[in-house]
Amino acid sequence: MHTIYGILPVVKPNLNDVSVQKCYRDKLLSLWPAIKGSLAEVRKPCIRPHCAVCARGDKHPNYLLAYTDKGQRRCLYVPKAMVPALERALENGRQIEQLLYQMGPALLKEFRAQNPAQTGPAVRVRRAKSRPKS
Ligand SMILES: [Zn+2]
Repeated sequence: MHTIYGILPVVKPNLNDVSVQKCYRDKLLSLWPAIKGSLAEVRKPCIRPHCAVCARGDKHPNYLLAYTDKGQRRCLYVPKAMVPALERALENGRQIEQLLYQMGPALLKEFRAQNPAQTGPAVRVRRAKSRPKS
């Protein structure tokens, strides 16, 4: 009788998986949920008739989430209870954007370290002086 180990190939850990990609993936997952946009507090009068607050001239605080959809700037009212969660998600979005900017150079650096012969034209390679032909 075969055991499962006799049937399945031995799974070796993929060395590339413990690299830049995995490192960045773990960082990205820890920054979820994330959004882009901005949160603003606005003060507006309400629609209630005879509102004491509005009668005093004080307006009601509201929060707006501004974001872009297909190039169009849009706004949505945000319930006050959701403000802390959205602030965290906005900060996560900013951190993820920074990670995305860092990941390109990190991937290139890693590739160059693993493939020294394919470093591209930006890297100067010193060659030994050619010996005079006999
Ligand atoms: Zn009011």
